[in-house]
Amino acid sequence: MSRPALARLLAAAVAALSLSSVSAQDNTVLNLYSARHYQTDEALYANFTKATGIRINRVDADDAGLLVRLKSEGASSPADVILLVDAARLWRAETDGLFQPVKSSVLESRIPVQLRSTDAGQGSQWFGFSTRARVIVYDKQRVNKTDVDTYEKLADPVNKGRVCTRSGSHPYNLSLFGAMVEHLGPAKAEEWLKAVSGNMARAPKGGDTDQIKAVASGECAVALTNSYYLARMMRSEAPADRAVIERIGVVFPNQANHGTHVNIAGGAVARHAKNRAAAVKFLEYLASAEAQTYFANGNNEWPAVRDVKLKNPALEAFGDFKVETVPISTIGRNQVPVQQMLDRVGYR
Ligand code: FE
Repeated sequence: MSRPALARLLAAAVAALSLSSVSAQDNTVLNLYSARHYQTDEALYANFTKATGIRINRVDADDAGLLVRLKSEGASSPADVILLVDAARLWRAETDGLFQPVKSSVLESRIPVQLRSTDAGQGSQWFGFSTRARVIVYDKQRVNKTDVDTYEKLADPVNKGRVCTRSGSHPYNLSLFGAMVEHLGPAKAEEWLKAVSGNMARAPKGGDTDQIKAVASGECAVALTNSYYLARMMRSEAPADRAVIERIGVVFPNQANHGTHVNIAGGAVARHAKNRAAAVKFLEYLASAEAQTYFANGNNEWPAVRDVKLKNPALEAFGDFKVETVPISTIGRNQVPVQQMLDRVGYR
């Protein structure tokens, strides 16, 4: 037999083998309700399908939209897995009975205890898979770093007319403010929110990336953003993004005391999941080194699993920092009072 012919025969044999292993694989379609609005997650789901044969049918909405939908669907909900991007939303969904407990030695050994819901004996209701910090960016031409090295200083008179944020009611801000209620007490926290609102350069609008750009354009001088939006720009080669990064400084607030506010993105098995086993398998996959590396590199988040090695220049540039330790249940419980404070002080 000629070499090319042998090669063709071998290739055919390999194809036949892999075909038979595919047909032996799962034909399940997993219904994933996802609030992760990051395009880079696509490859992550494709890899899971490649490894298991389990296909993923994804329904996208924001956290609030997913929770409303799950509630209205009730027991007939097709949702198997739910991914949310805010700790307080995970807590809310758990409190509302939208999840079911999962007992998994893989998840228990890989996800640190503070990044999953309390296990009352039957397993955790949700698991955090990545973390993000809420940082302050500032215009290096107009602002001293020491003017903005704590969240408290956003309320300082020195920052009058400088501050920009997205809506105060956005989950990322509600969770930060919920943590501040814990640090300051409710009365001081409300005063703080009032003063921050009074320091605005413009009425809250847009997303976190819009705030970063508005600092670089000079419209604002100080802003709040999640770390991954900033990291995305730091890694961009587009000249406009390079110019933005040149102009701004970043602070991980409150390093001298309680640490920087960190939020989580996480997942859970839906209360009425029809494909429970596949759903657990998917959550375990999200805790694998492959998926965790993907979070770190694809969406510039910190992996929840500690021993995962980072190869991300932006996260490396951020370096180590002190992380706040307010329990997620506390942040969750503070959401409603915080929203009421925002309404009272006129922080939209
Ligand atoms: Fe986001």
